[in-house]
Amino acid sequence: TLSDRLTATFKNLRGKGRLSETDVNKAIRDIRLALLDADVALPVVKRFTSRVRERALGAEVSQALNPAQQVVKIVNEELISILGGETRQIRFAKQPPTVIMLAGLQGSGKTTFAGKLGRWLKDKGHTPLLVAADLQRPNAVTQLEVTGERAGVPVFAPERGNMGGHDAVLDSGEGTRSFGDPVAVSRAGVAEAQARQHDVVIIDTAGRLAVDTNLMQQAADIRAAVQPDEVLFVIDAMIGQAAVETAQAFHDGVAFTGVVLSKLDGDARGGAALSVTEITGEPIMFASIGEKVTDIEVFHPDRMASRILDMGDVLTLIEQAEKAFDRSQADEMARKFLAEEDFTFEDFLQQMNAIKKMGSLKSMLKMMPGMQGMREQLDAFDDREFDRVEAMVRSMTPFERTHPKQINGSRRARIAKGSGVTVSDVNQLLERFGQAQKMMKSLARGGGGGLPGMPGI
Ligand code: GDP
Ligand code: MG
Repeated sequence: TLSDRLTATFKNLRGKGRLSETDVNKAIRDIRLALLDADVALPVVKRFTSRVRERALGAEVSQALNPAQQVVKIVNEELISILGGETRQIRFAKQPPTVIMLAGLQGSGKTTFAGKLGRWLKDKGHTPLLVAADLQRPNAVTQLEVTGERAGVPVFAPERGNMGGHDAVLDSGEGTRSFGDPVAVSRAGVAEAQARQHDVVIIDTAGRLAVDTNLMQQAADIRAAVQPDEVLFVIDAMIGQAAVETAQAFHDGVAFTGVVLSKLDGDARGGAALSVTEITGEPIMFASIGEKVTDIEVFHPDRMASRILDMGDVLTLIEQAEKAFDRSQADEMARKFLAEEDFTFEDFLQQMNAIKKMGSLKSMLKMMPGMQGMREQLDAFDDREFDRVEAMVRSMTPFERTHPKQINGSRRARIAKGSGVTVSDVNQLLERFGQAQKMMKSLARGGGGGLPGMPGI
């Protein structure tokens, strides 16, 4: 991973006052390779690394961070800033219906995403309507109808054969025939939503295998006709180097307002995310992560930064696990994990000592996979807290350290007395240790075994 590479590069550098140009150049080479591995487009890699180089050259090597951590920190911050910083929410219209138009290449995942977004909005109490404005192939309308049915969201579609008129159909693939004008259907869909009090309209549009002017014109015409509140550009996360050209063309052609990164469940390391946001400046709003109607996630820039850096994506895994299991199942799962009890206070002491040798505990925690979302809590964390914790653990007997569940009231009182803290401090430690055990378990699962029925976790 990039973190490993940088750590190796900087192995002997701790204690220098400033990163030298040679050091930084070495690091930049590692970063370039890591970004290319993650499928970030070459021009984006160049722009990105030159910014990181500039910042790294000026950076003091702090006491808390070693040089590798320092560079990873800069890279992570730059990634998050390009990816959009905060997650951007859908902008709902003051006067419903809110109109959301989808655009993108054929096969990018628009129709699939229309169903997912519809379902996601419905679960939040909205009353969405899907509009079938991909009239290039009759199958596309049927596909949206099937998708809508699965999502439990109604679909507005032209009546086949009745919609003649404009020459919307421009090519003649198998089964192609002209059966409607996508602009008229989009308008009619919005009117239908108004009449039937749907508060959101999601317009599914046609795509081509490559960017072409007819397609772009059609999308631009629909946009002009219905004045959408959001135009979401759906892009396949696996697109690789072509991301730049495609994103640029759609940005120029339909002026999209947000991005959906689809098929992020595959091998894609997410480099396309960086390419698109760097080139267009538009935020990624959703990730599409599978073929099921519930495989949708709000996009988190900080997590994607971690994914690109390969620092782990623990928070997303936890959120997924929570979504997939109802509470009682989740509690049962947690109980099982805890019952295994193989992370003990002995391990804890060892780890804490190792961490102490490396520098500040706070800075270490900040570098840990999945910790990016907990910045506030970490900032409030005092390193001296650690000494108190150590005192408490040292006041435990070996039996207690390996059987934390057995530490009853009288044992707690004795530990408190022995370490000069209150019983409630001991209670807190034991509670937090229980939580840490739980987290260790889910981290361990993330690596190999897997939760039953949860691919990738
Ligand atoms: P469209 O042409 O842009 O409307 O793309 P579709 O929605 O028809 O999707 C094209 C193909 O990609 C279909 O086979 C979908 O099942 C698949 N697909 C779409 N989104 C995802 C996703 O997030 N993950 C995976 N694995 N497949 C997806
Ligand atoms: Mg489609």
